[in-house]
Amino acid sequence: DDDRIRVKDKNDRATVDQVLDPRTLIVLHKMVKNQKLDQIYGCLSTGKEANVYLAEGHMDLDTMELKNPAEYKREFAIKIFKTSILVFKDRERYVEGEFRFRKGHCKSNPRKMVQLWAEKEVRNLKRLNQTNGLIKAPRPFLLKNNVIVMEFIGETGLGAPRLKDADIIDIQQTYTDVLFIMRRMYQMCRLVHADFSEYNMLYYNGEVYVIDVSQSVEHDHPMALDFLRRDCANVNDFFKKRGLQVLNTQQTFDFVTDFQIQDESQALADLFSKVKDIISAEDEVTDRVFSQSYIPRTLQELAPDEIEKQKHNDQKLYAKLTGLQIKQEEQLEGVIKEKPKDEQESSSDDDEEEENDES
Ligand code: ADP
Ligand code: MG
Repeated sequence: DDDRIRVKDKNDRATVDQVLDPRTLIVLHKMVKNQKLDQIYGCLSTGKEANVYLAEGHMDLDTMELKNPAEYKREFAIKIFKTSILVFKDRERYVEGEFRFRKGHCKSNPRKMVQLWAEKEVRNLKRLNQTNGLIKAPRPFLLKNNVIVMEFIGETGLGAPRLKDADIIDIQQTYTDVLFIMRRMYQMCRLVHADFSEYNMLYYNGEVYVIDVSQSVEHDHPMALDFLRRDCANVNDFFKKRGLQVLNTQQTFDFVTDFQIQDESQALADLFSKVKDIISAEDEVTDRVFSQSYIPRTLQELAPDEIEKQKHNDQKLYAKLTGLQIKQEEQLEGVIKEKPKDEQESSSDDDEEEENDES
């Protein structure tokens, strides 16, 4: 099988060696040996936390059936999370408050930690794909340890460009699409991307695909609304640079989080009608104040004595409640609920349990 895994990258030899540790190579070899994949080609992207490779296989993602490899070929993207600890150190705040990461053993075992990131990415990609096409994202196909195989967005080995590098046909339409993506991610998937920008969207056939969701957090994560505020600012900055008249951060944030909006298109049209030709000094101040406001996350935090406590830290309390109007689970219709961990199949190696923590 050896020649069917041709992971070559002369320019970035060190990175490749670093990510493809022997265990990862074994995982890849097994995928080829089990005929889940036919070939693994070179690197599409090398990043700080993961590398992405191009592969070819004969899985039909519409039916989840393996086809005859002589007749059916598709490209796939393989995202391999790096197993070195250091790069994951600064990601800790994304997982605080997530129960699976609370178990001590993960923190001290880098391979376990990385595996959870991969699991999280697959779980989030699945959720995005459960929206009947309202959010486009690569469909995940295989998950094993730190390796994810997913739908390839692009053609003939050429990955779709990131939004940053794309020739966008209709920039206003794409801005609207992206605002809807953020809103649907929040309202339907209960997720905040948490690293949303022109770097983590692909542009293919005029449509935006969301990628890189391993760090995405549940809407009730302690930092979710801070991450969302930053996502909104990133998106607006990008489209503003492209010459668009954009909403301010607070308007964007409200559009994403407001549960009471019935007609989304109308709501957005109303917002755009308020956007002035030139970003006024007033808007800049609004954005600055909003970026420093304290956003309450729970109803408890809005109890009078809590509000009193907040006063001393000189922050404007952002009282427009972001989804907190919703008190009852039953009101969360159409929300994709997550299965408890033990109902999900595990992707871990069987041999991992007997190993000691590397602390
Ligand atoms: P990270 O930013 O953590 O390195 P990403 O998930 O953003 O990882 O992927 C890095 C790059 O790999 C992307 O910018 C894109 O160019 C490419 N890529 C990732 N997933 C796919 C995919 N499913 N199809 C095509 N290209 C992809
Ligand atoms: Mg990325």
